[in-house]
Amino acid sequence: MDNLGALESLLKSNMNKYAKKKVCEKCKGTGFIIREDNSVDYCDCILSSKDSLLKAMNIPKRYWKIADSMDAFYAEDQDGSYTNAYIAVLDYVNKFKENEGRGLIFMGPPGVGKTYLSIFSLLYLEEKYKIRGLFYDVRSLILDLKSLIGKDRHLNSSSYEKLLTKVLKAPILVLDDLGSEILTDYNKDILTYIIASRYNDMAPIIITTNFNLLQYDIRPEQVGLSSSPSNKKQRSEIQISSKNMFEKNGPEQGKVFSYDDLPNSLKSDLVLRLGESIASRLGETCDFIYMFGEDRRINKSKKTKES
Ligand SMILES: [Zn+2]
Repeated sequence: MDNLGALESLLKSNMNKYAKKKVCEKCKGTGFIIREDNSVDYCDCILSSKDSLLKAMNIPKRYWKIADSMDAFYAEDQDGSYTNAYIAVLDYVNKFKENEGRGLIFMGPPGVGKTYLSIFSLLYLEEKYKIRGLFYDVRSLILDLKSLIGKDRHLNSSSYEKLLTKVLKAPILVLDDLGSEILTDYNKDILTYIIASRYNDMAPIIITTNFNLLQYDIRPEQVGLSSSPSNKKQRSEIQISSKNMFEKNGPEQGKVFSYDDLPNSLKSDLVLRLGESIASRLGETCDFIYMFGEDRRINKSKKTKES
């Protein structure tokens, strides 16, 4: 009986330890805290491992080991626009602190690496300055917000507000796949609120959006790199390996475009998809990065089938 009692108390104390470990007192298990000045930061409890940090930044698991697959993208960069976009990201991060809230918009057809590079920007900012941003696919963000507001308001208003605060106050926010379809009025309202609030706070946003630029008569030559000798030179100047993936030699800058540079037909389609108030704010605060090429996800599955 004594042995059994000892075992029981041992089990109980272990269970208590486990329970204490499971829910963090500081953040109540949410992984982030809201400071007195209303800014948000990740709680110490999730910073103990890289995996939990990436999870809290909402980065999909597929992209956690991004450094290991960087080479594959370069090998398939036919027109140089991926290399250009990559260099533009390095420039952006290196000047992040002087940027004063400026953001980026990756614009191009599906499967050319827009999401990839937007996440790479987050990882690089984390690596370089310990700035911990937040990733959200636009559709999931809207669903998550709706699911929290749709239930018992009283019970869930705090989780709704927490998610919204996190999105509004993250030091940098990626909105993946914005405006691939025309937004409904309700979704437009949510997104306008988020984008306008961040605009007022001068908090940067990185956007990816699907546009087939060729349809607007924008061609790879306009990025200025298309299979030219300087493109090859630039590529050789970037050292890619998981150890020094963030290093860039050489003075060349990635080519980015301003809202004023966009053809009128593209501007009016942006307004049509996103609404005037989102398009104008993003146009004012973001640089546009043009991307071209074939859908690498489809190519990849083709190759797998052939081999
Ligand atoms: Zn915590």
